[in-house]
This record gives sequence, C-alpha cells and structure tokens, in this order.
Amino acid sequence: MLHSKPKEDSYLQKGLRKQLVQTLREKGIQDERVLAAIEAIPRHFFLDPAFERQAYEDRAFPITAGQTISQPYTVAYQTQLLEIKKFDKVLEIGTGSAYQACVLAELGVSLFTIERQRALYDYVGQFFFIKNYPNIKRFYGDGYEGLPSYAPFDKILVTAAAPFIPPKLVEQLKPSGIMVIPVGDDTGQKMLRITKDTDGTTHIEERGDFSFVPMLTGKNNK
Ligand code: SAH
Repeated sequence: MLHSKPKEDSYLQKGLRKQLVQTLREKGIQDERVLAAIEAIPRHFFLDPAFERQAYEDRAFPITAGQTISQPYTVAYQTQLLEIKKFDKVLEIGTGSAYQACVLAELGVSLFTIERQRALYDYVGQFFFIKNYPNIKRFYGDGYEGLPSYAPFDKILVTAAAPFIPPKLVEQLKPSGIMVIPVGDDTGQKMLRITKDTDGTTHIEERGDFSFVPMLTGKNNK
C-alpha cells in the first residue's frame, strides 16, 4: 500500500494549503467551515507520492484503479451546496480517495460512504489518515442502491456523473433533506441540488457545469 504509513505535513504544505483556500475564496466559496476543513486536511496524504507536489493546485488527479480525486473547488462547491450541519447523517456515493469523505467528517457529520471498486475500497482501508475519523463508515457496494438499512439521510452527495437521478437515493433522503448530484453524460454534467419538502415533493435546481468520472452500475470486484 502506498500510503499506509503516516506522512509529514510540513510548513511548506500548510502554506500551500492556505493559498489553495484563498484561491477557493476567489472562485466564490464562502462557507467558512468548508474552507476551514480544506485548510485542516493534508490533501497530499491522499495522493500517490509522484503527485504530491501538485496536491495544492486546484485540479483533479489520478488515484489508484483508474479513478480520480475530485478538484478541491468541486469538493468545496458540492459540500457548500449541502448546507452541512454538525451531526447530519450523510450518504456519499463514490468514496474514491476518501478526501471528500474526510472533508465531510471534519464538519462533524455521521458519514456513510459507498465505493463500487473493491481495489479502491481496500486501498482506503489501509490509509492511516482515515483512522482519525471514526465518524466515517465505509461500504463496498453499488451506489445506485444507496444504503436502505441506514436510511433516511439528511444529506446525500454523489461524486460521480450519474446518467439520471437514482430513484432509490431520492427515496432515502429525509423530508427537508438535500441531495447534490452531477447528472449528464461523458460530454459533461449539470450539478443538481435536489431538496425534498416535508410532504415528500422534490425540487430541482441547476447549479453549474461539471465533469466527473461516470457513475457505473453494479460492483467491480477487481
Ligand atoms: N469522492 C471521491 C471522488 C472519487 S471519483 C474523492 O474525494 O476522491 C468517483 C468515485 O465513484 C470512483 O471511485 C468510482 O469508482 C465511484 N463510483 C462510480 N460509480 C459508483 C457506484 N455506482 N457506486 C459507488 N461508487 C461508484
């Protein structure tokens, strides 16, 4: 495992992180708690050592198993749209590197996160840093199914490009809950923010154009 041993968080890296937070502010992120979480979490811990130098550029990066760690702006933007409150029960689809999971966990939520690729699921299980967050529960499974036995959730976050809004996820959202999901195809997606009224009706707002790796069906056991 590449990152099973603790890594250093140097003054240089802390300084680069402050600059990244400043960049996110300039790009319109205003939620101070989200910015503080990004400043607190050493993103370079989540990257292959070969990419560590680029960890604090506002870019997505390849991780293991052909997947990516989302761009910091995207992580901050999706998190901000969720209007997270401490102790919210949150479901994330697409654990990937677990960076987004740690940002949510840093905000004090109870996080449930699902990954469909066994190799990635196992990889994150070896990751020393995730052990700092006992409020993260990881699952190997298909995000289209959600987690019926733990539902309903206050917030649901999808971090892969969905071809449509998965009905089971809408079912698993609490009344007054918020779901944030990029919907579209491989040419691009619209970020959707779905809110559920107390009577169960849903409202959908479009919040910009994004580009994610696809949300695939079923599990991958490799
Ligand atoms: N949140 C991640 C972003 C990872 S990229 C991070 O912070 O690093 C999207 C992830 O979604 C990939 O790991 C991919 O394997 C996963 N994924 C795609 N379809 C899925 C599905 N149906 N269920 C669960 N995970 C899925």
